[in-house]
Amino acid sequence: MSQFPILQLLPKKERAVLHRHPWVFSGAVKKLPQAANGDIVEVQSAEGQTLAYGFFSPQSQIVCRLFEFMEPAWGQGMAASAAFFGQGQVGPDYWRGKIEHALALRRRLLDPATTNCYRLLHAEGDFFPGVIADVYHQTVVLQLLIKGTEKLLPTLTELLLGLGYRHIYLKSKASSHFLEDMPQESRWLTEAPELPLRVREHGLEFYVNPEKGQKTGFFIDQRENRQLLRGLAHGKRVLNTFSYTAGFSVYALAGGASLVHSVDISKDAVALGQANLELNRGQWPAQIPHQGIAADCFEYLRQTDERYDLIVLDPPAFAKNAKSVPNAARGYKDLNLLAFRQIEPGGLVMTFSCSQNIDKLLFQKIVFGAAADARRNVRILQFLGQPADHPVNIFHPESEYLKGLLLWVE
Ligand code: SAH
Repeated sequence: MSQFPILQLLPKKERAVLHRHPWVFSGAVKKLPQAANGDIVEVQSAEGQTLAYGFFSPQSQIVCRLFEFMEPAWGQGMAASAAFFGQGQVGPDYWRGKIEHALALRRRLLDPATTNCYRLLHAEGDFFPGVIADVYHQTVVLQLLIKGTEKLLPTLTELLLGLGYRHIYLKSKASSHFLEDMPQESRWLTEAPELPLRVREHGLEFYVNPEKGQKTGFFIDQRENRQLLRGLAHGKRVLNTFSYTAGFSVYALAGGASLVHSVDISKDAVALGQANLELNRGQWPAQIPHQGIAADCFEYLRQTDERYDLIVLDPPAFAKNAKSVPNAARGYKDLNLLAFRQIEPGGLVMTFSCSQNIDKLLFQKIVFGAAADARRNVRILQFLGQPADHPVNIFHPESEYLKGLLLWVE
C-alpha cells in the first residue's frame, strides 16, 4: 500500500520516467491523484508498478516533477529512498542527502580562497526540481519555483543553516507566480546581512544585492567564460555589451585590456559596474581607460566609430517562451551582425544566448546567418556553456540553457 496519492500514467507512457526524465506532462496521465498543489505523489505505470515520486502541480502542463526514481536496476536511489518512504513521509534526512551531495560537488570544483559564490542547487540538474540556491559567501538566495518545494521551506532553511550558511533570502520568480501559483513576495528568512554583499570570484571582487539584483543578484553562470576572457584580453580594445555588473569588463581589465567600454541600457547597471571596477582597481594600471555607457546596445553598435578587438555579446534571454523564438532569433541575428560589422579584422567575438527555447544548434545557425550577411570569415574557436556548478542532468537536456561561441572574425 502506498503512503502517497497515486498518479497513474497512460499505457506506454512510462518510457520517459524509466529514462529518468523528471517531468510528467499532463498528456501522459491516465488518473490524477487526489492531492493538492505541491503534495508529494507516487507515479505508477498503467500496470500499477511504482516508478517514481514527485511534486504535484495540477494547474501546470508539467503536472509532476520527479525527485526520486524507483527502478531496482539502478540500485542506490532505491536503497536511500526505502528508509524514508517507509515512514510515511519524506523526512529531512532525505533532503539533507540531496543538498550534501550537491555541496560535495561544489567543494570539489571550487577553491573558496578565490571563489565564494556558486550555485549550490540547480533544480533538475541536481535532482531537486523546483529549487535554485545560489550562495554568496555566507548568504544563500533561494528560489522556490513550485508549491512542492515551497512546502519544504522550513526544512530547507534549517538544513542550510545547519551547513553553516548564515543568511537566507527567499526570492520570488515572476514566471513561477503565474504558472505555479507561487507567492510574489521576496523576504529574508533570517536576519539580513549588511548590503550589498561583497563576493569573490577567481580572486576578483563584486558587489551583490539579492534584493535588487537580476536573477539571484549576480550572473554566476558566466564565471568560467569571464575567466576565459581574462586570458584573451591582453592588449585588446574590449566592448562589453549588456554589461550589468561589468563582470566581463573587470576580467578584461584584470587580463590586461588596453581599453574597455561597458554598455547597458540601465543607468543603475552602469553605476553598479563602475562600483565593481573601483573595487578591483588595484588589479590593473591606473591609466587604462574604462567607460560605462548607458545606451541601447543595438543603437550603440550601429552608431559608434570606435574600433574594438574583442566584443562580448551577453544579452538577456530574448526568447522567454516557445512563441517568441522567431522574434528572438531576429534579435540575436541583428546583434551578432552589428558586432561582425564593427569588429576589427582578426578580432574576437564572445556571443551568448541564455534562452532555454533556443538550443545550441539553432543559436549557431543564427550566428551563421549573421556572419553570412556581414560577409566576414568567422571561425568557431570554442563552444561555451554553463559552468560545472550548473550541471546538466543528462536525462533532462532542458537544464542546459546557456550557450555561447568564441569566434574569430577575419
Ligand atoms: N552580461 C551580464 C548579464 C547581462 S543581464 C553579466 O555578465 O553579468 C542583461 C542586461 O542587459 C541588463 O543589465 C539589462 O539592463 C541590459 N539590457 C537589456 N536590454 C538592453 C539593451 N537593448 N541595450 C543595452 N542593455 C540592455
